[in-house]
Amino acid sequence: MKGFTSKAIHGVVLKKDPHGALRFPLYDNAAFEADSAHDLELMFQGKKASHVYSRISNPTVEDFEQKVRLLSNAFGVVAVASGMAAISETVIALAGAGSNIVTSRFLFGNTVSLFESTFKRWGLEVRYADMTDTVSIEAAIDERTRLVFLEVITNPQLEVADIAVVSSIAGKHDVPVVLDGTLTTPYLFRSRDRGVAVEIISSTKYISGGATSIGGLIIDNGVFNWKKSPALADEAGKVGPGALVSRLRREVNRNVGACMSPHNAWLQSLGLETLALRVDRSSENALAVATFLSAHPRVRAVNYPGLPGSPGHDVAVRQFGGKAGGLLTFELGGKEECFRFMDSLTMVRRATNLNDNKSLILHPASTIFADYPAEEREKMMVSERLLRLAVGIEDKEDIIDDLSLGLEKL
Ligand code: PLP
Repeated sequence: MKGFTSKAIHGVVLKKDPHGALRFPLYDNAAFEADSAHDLELMFQGKKASHVYSRISNPTVEDFEQKVRLLSNAFGVVAVASGMAAISETVIALAGAGSNIVTSRFLFGNTVSLFESTFKRWGLEVRYADMTDTVSIEAAIDERTRLVFLEVITNPQLEVADIAVVSSIAGKHDVPVVLDGTLTTPYLFRSRDRGVAVEIISSTKYISGGATSIGGLIIDNGVFNWKKSPALADEAGKVGPGALVSRLRREVNRNVGACMSPHNAWLQSLGLETLALRVDRSSENALAVATFLSAHPRVRAVNYPGLPGSPGHDVAVRQFGGKAGGLLTFELGGKEECFRFMDSLTMVRRATNLNDNKSLILHPASTIFADYPAEEREKMMVSERLLRLAVGIEDKEDIIDDLSLGLEKL
């Protein structure tokens, strides 16, 4: 079985269902019983492989994790409650008070808030670098740097860094790269092949298959020697390459309690089966929409990495094989014009999600980035003129018709 979709559909059969169910069942329960007190002791010690309690592990969640592991060609995967839980837990596992992380100014709004507010309060230093500039990254890293964090395509600036270059700079300093691969998923981008130590994904987006549920993934690609991570060196001494997964399962995820619900894992396993079809379709739609918008006289600028001439285009073609996902941005005259345009749309929905089956539009400055002063927003390239369109998998003619009518009414 070589193809992405064949693997996504058939997955890894860990144990045949006793009833022969063709779809892995939903084990929607909290606890698992033991045959004897001694067995329960062994289960707690991790000496008998068995599920004990669904906050720690669950068969349906494990089935989903194993499918993602197969599709990413990774060492291990831990599914968690949300994309934000995946980022939080990874940073908690690898860094701490007195250390620093190096990241970009271009990040999803809640990630900025997590780093700037939550983690800074706990004594973590957050350093910023331009991920497209090797000198800037190199200058930010020092002996207290515990990870370099970046997004594969930044949301909403749509900057695309050369990930292999970032990995090689971080690697020189024995620092792992943590990549938010939400916008590409393992279908468009094989982060393992570009030296990324850990990929985190908000599976709420593309993977869920139509915004059915919230979820997150922490994918250990198995390319980083955890003995080099001060936070994990002792764990690596004990368990070897499984140090991060072990630390997450046996400590961070277990104690934080942000586990993925079995129900969400079941839904997202189903979503995974059609991931490639949906990414292909929304990438094709997004390119058609970007081409339409860039030729429209009312539109001041369009940014889509799949569109020739957009800033991230060349790297995107090299990294993602000619597809660039469903997210694009464009500019109108100002906030008031953006709002009028959004309100005139009849099929494209006004909502904050992305990579849904439905096309969704949002004005980032007044929503996700509303907590930041105007000058901060400008630094993050989130202007009042900017609209973010997450192109869905509807028929592209209908999406373009809706946008076209909205632009005519301005
Ligand atoms: N990373 C990116 C790039 C996102 O766009 C989002 C959410 O929009 C997240 C992480 C957070 O994911 P979740 O909403 O599943 O916590």
